[in-house]
Amino acid sequence: MTQYETVIGLEVHAQLQTQSKLFCACGTVFGQAPNTQTCPVCLGLPGALPVVNRTAVEMAVRTGLALNCAIRTPNRFARKHYFYPDLPKGYQISQYEAPICEHGTLDVTVGATAKRIRVRRAHLEEDAGKNVHEGGEGSRVDLNRAGTPLLEIVTEPDMRSSEEVVAYLKSLRDVLVYLGVCDGNMEQGSLRCEPNVSLRPVGRQEFGTKVELKNINSFKFVKEAIEYEVKRQSKVLSEGGTIHQETRLWDTDRGMTATMRSKEEAHDYRYFPDPDLAPVEIPAAWIAEIRRTLPELPAARVKRFVADFGLPEYDAGVLTSSKAVADYFESCVALYPQPKTVSHWVMGELLRELNTSGTDVAASPVTPERLVSLLKLVEAGTVSLKAARDLFPEFYAGGKSAEQLVQEKGLTQVSDESALGALIDEALAKNPAQVAQFKEGKQQVVGFLVGQVMKASGGKANPGKVNELLKRKLTG
Ligand SMILES: [Zn+2]
Repeated sequence: MTQYETVIGLEVHAQLQTQSKLFCACGTVFGQAPNTQTCPVCLGLPGALPVVNRTAVEMAVRTGLALNCAIRTPNRFARKHYFYPDLPKGYQISQYEAPICEHGTLDVTVGATAKRIRVRRAHLEEDAGKNVHEGGEGSRVDLNRAGTPLLEIVTEPDMRSSEEVVAYLKSLRDVLVYLGVCDGNMEQGSLRCEPNVSLRPVGRQEFGTKVELKNINSFKFVKEAIEYEVKRQSKVLSEGGTIHQETRLWDTDRGMTATMRSKEEAHDYRYFPDPDLAPVEIPAAWIAEIRRTLPELPAARVKRFVADFGLPEYDAGVLTSSKAVADYFESCVALYPQPKTVSHWVMGELLRELNTSGTDVAASPVTPERLVSLLKLVEAGTVSLKAARDLFPEFYAGGKSAEQLVQEKGLTQVSDESALGALIDEALAKNPAQVAQFKEGKQQVVGFLVGQVMKASGGKANPGKVNELLKRKLTG
């Protein structure tokens, strides 16, 4: 049987977080009443002329630099012709033979392996409107989204598995969010991806016929859609059939892809330079200025967390996977310079509560100040580590201070020597056999005796202190 290799390239549409649209001053706020954010330009009325949004160009350059792209100047807008009811001009303004960014790379980690994905190009284009099929008679068109700026980021066919695609997509989203150019929200459509998938017999250079997948709005669906498509294609090929170049939709309910349309070729769109828009010149000084103000990107932050805070690479990866979490972590460390302890709490207790309640870390009821106040109580021995962990869900949900909660729950740890001494004497009296074993040289019975004292104290005794006092009594 022929063994096939999977080949995947990816197109990602990232909605740029500009205040206004790509070629007019209309707003871009999501979820407004239909057709309230429109004007003659984005309605495609005759005689209206587009003007390029400077911020959108700047965001494209910023992304290009972060992805190690060459910035093309001048770059140029082109008309891509097709009919759709939500595209009133009859063409979309995009970029074709002269995109703003070209020849970049993004390094990703798949499992424990590093892989470099080449970025072929990233170009600016306007979004279309939306056809609304629900509610009322017939279908309606909402043009609020028409003209919203998108950056389409296209890779070379460098990925070989759904895992690699997900790793790339996650890294790309992190970069876009770190740069502040896209909110990365896949459910709202701010980040949309279209993988193209083909198979070829292992060892062959030439690519097979590719199928493009659409309608994917989560990492989970990307993985499922690609895996389904790989199975489907390998079945067709191994039965001697042929793959047709086409666009297929991912059906989330049925868990399968289905034909949407046969794939068009670039020449079908009759691209030509948009005569209403001059070529976009980007002065070298402006590019240098944007480069100078690039923020620290996720990969660099991971390295810094490992080097400066002594964190394992895995932990640094988890903490930096979202800019907000990394910022939170650094705020805590600034208040309480014990990065390893802070990292355990953020990755464990905090992220667990945030995930369970679906809360963004920026809106966490446990602020860095509150988290640090709890860690300080643990360090001072006022509350045991275990009790503090058990307490955390309530600490997270309620507004009480750590001190107040520890007191109210009676969790204040007993470190007082006379109180502990009484409990220890009791434990020794009750367990003469173990005491005898210790005297015969069996050191490990200390653990058992500590356990007895802890139990007698209802978990409130300070275990370190108990250990110390026990040994003193046994050897004294
Ligand atoms: Zn407009």
